[in-house]
Amino acid sequence: MNPLRPAVVFPSLIAFARLAGAAEPAGAVWPPRPANTPDLPPPEITETWTPVPPVVTAPAGGLPSDAIVLFDGKSLDNWEPVRPNGPRWKIEDGAMVIVPNKEPCDQRTKQAFGDMQLHIEWRAPAEARGHSQERGNSGIFFMGLYELQVLDSYNNPTYVNGMVGSVYKQHIPLANPSRPPGEWQVYDAVFVAPRFAADGTLQRPARLTAFLNGVLVLPDVEIKGPTVYRGFPKYEAHPPALPLVLQDHRNPVAYRNIWARGLSLP
Ligand code: MG
Repeated sequence: MNPLRPAVVFPSLIAFARLAGAAEPAGAVWPPRPANTPDLPPPEITETWTPVPPVVTAPAGGLPSDAIVLFDGKSLDNWEPVRPNGPRWKIEDGAMVIVPNKEPCDQRTKQAFGDMQLHIEWRAPAEARGHSQERGNSGIFFMGLYELQVLDSYNNPTYVNGMVGSVYKQHIPLANPSRPPGEWQVYDAVFVAPRFAADGTLQRPARLTAFLNGVLVLPDVEIKGPTVYRGFPKYEAHPPALPLVLQDHRNPVAYRNIWARGLSLP
């Protein structure tokens, strides 16, 4: 059978639409524009001039001028092991790399963050060992509590609310834009911290928007509570700013080019 070519199909559809009376009236404008009549209010009424947003320079290929560099490829000065006297990760070829250890040790920023924009690049080991949650597993814990999963999800099925781009065990990502293991991948995220009342009750849950390799994976999702492996998340009041934590899951995942912008969102 000959496949129908678009050049044949489209003229047929247009002819059919005309026969069915769907042709546009002559002179119609779409979308319709309101008439610019003298009875409308002056245009200045709908112009807002303040507050003026701060100037942030954002050079091509560079960092925004107000970015806080958390890892520049040379020093771990902005990081500390979460366990007192715990091991630090190593620096290798401009990346901070997990050193698999009997007792894993997450690393946290010395600086605390509430609402934040985060840029972070990561790489799963080139040799894809293990499967499901055992391959290239790490994680980005906003406030040390809410995990944006890092996992080698390239041809590596696992439970979908635990794959890369998920809020671990809470939200399935919209897409899987994973690159093969051994290639650098990029997260850009906006985290909105939860708000608690003075008596400790939850006023507003945390929210997260994330792009993986430029592809939207989490569209302003509501976080249900701190990430837990077993059981169900439940909020408990905590300070408005806490360190960002990177997870040691015994896989030698590497991170580089980490920067943040502290935000105070409404
Ligand atoms: Mg993880």
